[in-house]
Amino acid sequence: MGFYFASDDDEVALQSSGAAGSADGFAEGVMAPEDELEGVDIPEAVAAGAYIIEPFDEDKLMVNGVELTIQSKLADLRNACGFVKLSQSGGKDRCYKRTVNFLKQQQLELIDAVAHRLDTNLQRDPNAPPLAEAPNDKEVQKHNLTHLPYKPWCPACVSYRARADKQTRDNQTAASSVPCISFDFAYTKSMSDQEGEQVGTMVALVYIDSQTGFLGCVPVRCKGQYSLMVQELVSFPQLLGYTEVVCRADNEPTARQLLKLVVDTRLRMGLPTRSSTPPPYSHGNALAENCIARIRGLTGSLMFSLFEKLNMKFSTNSALWSWCMRHARWLLNRYAPYRGATPYELVYGKGYAGSICQYGEPIFGFVRGPNKGDASWRRMIFLGKVEAQDSFVCFDGDNIVLTKSVRRVATSWKSHLGFYVSFKNASWEFKTGLGGRVVPTKRAKEPIGSSFSLPREPFKVQPSIR
Ligand SMILES: [Zn+2]
Repeated sequence: MGFYFASDDDEVALQSSGAAGSADGFAEGVMAPEDELEGVDIPEAVAAGAYIIEPFDEDKLMVNGVELTIQSKLADLRNACGFVKLSQSGGKDRCYKRTVNFLKQQQLELIDAVAHRLDTNLQRDPNAPPLAEAPNDKEVQKHNLTHLPYKPWCPACVSYRARADKQTRDNQTAASSVPCISFDFAYTKSMSDQEGEQVGTMVALVYIDSQTGFLGCVPVRCKGQYSLMVQELVSFPQLLGYTEVVCRADNEPTARQLLKLVVDTRLRMGLPTRSSTPPPYSHGNALAENCIARIRGLTGSLMFSLFEKLNMKFSTNSALWSWCMRHARWLLNRYAPYRGATPYELVYGKGYAGSICQYGEPIFGFVRGPNKGDASWRRMIFLGKVEAQDSFVCFDGDNIVLTKSVRRVATSWKSHLGFYVSFKNASWEFKTGLGGRVVPTKRAKEPIGSSFSLPREPFKVQPSIR
């Protein structure tokens, strides 16, 4: 144990530390009787600095500098009881016994404390963060659809959102009877593995409704793409069913300009609208800033997951990032409850029941050609869903297409690498308005990577996840 008693007081030793008794007793206990002891006794070593604890003498006590025995005066014995905060009732015997028991107990506690301290002097317990273990494959597959909520066993979640997703609501605006739409710009930059690639920063307009927490996010070509941003911000309150709103932005010049355009457009439409900007240098737009962190974090997780599947990274130059950001906000609205309800449930009054695929997943989408015989399932990659019609937004190797039906097929994502590499159709080239229409604003044939080839034999086709 590391400490020694000055004499063999067995009772104290056993009670105090649970240590084995004398050295002889120990030897008897573990050695077979037929084994003979050889050699000479090794003298008992007393370590330097060992704690020596005097045995307890019951016949003579020392309390507050006064020596006491059973023969001492009753007044002295009572004083002693009072000094150690014990009852002073009873005669000499009871007072003395009470004091003895108390001091004995105190010494045992001291021995325990010393033993414990010596123990902790000799060892240091390492702490490790809990090892997160992934659940079964089915659970992992389900989690990969949304990466919501944050899971400590998921590398994609940990990489981008190790501080978890904390949702805040602006109490000041939530308390107001008029809903407040706050917006701000999110800047995202991510490098690829390619050396020397000039990577631009992706800009996205992010907005949130203070009352339901419903999020909006529109990646834009540049901060000057006002028409798209105004259109989105004007239709956002309509989706939520609001007539009167307060629009809030911070004091940055582009944000102020956008705020003015939105308010003017709404007023011209006869919709009561007020604007609000926080005082300079304040953090009055914290709600929008929190949304940006949540959307950016989930976007990171979704992209990380895609890169792991492809064993290849794409920088923010890739159009994959823009659709991913849109999809992240779409997922947060439907799968991230706050105080018991998701923003989608608050807005639509029902839970979301549609089906989804993993972001960037190779799937088969149903398309109808100009002729009756043209309807077919074609290979595509999943990019998200549109707000109202619940259609799937996919990339078919040439164009962005909308389809109502998809089939998930167990397949190697890497064999579709051509899709990802040739994908240049950034989301801001399309009017992905809340009405659910995705209208190509630019039509251009893009090359298809050579690794892409249609299946020769029928594939095992699974229904999409419900
Ligand atoms: Zn995850």
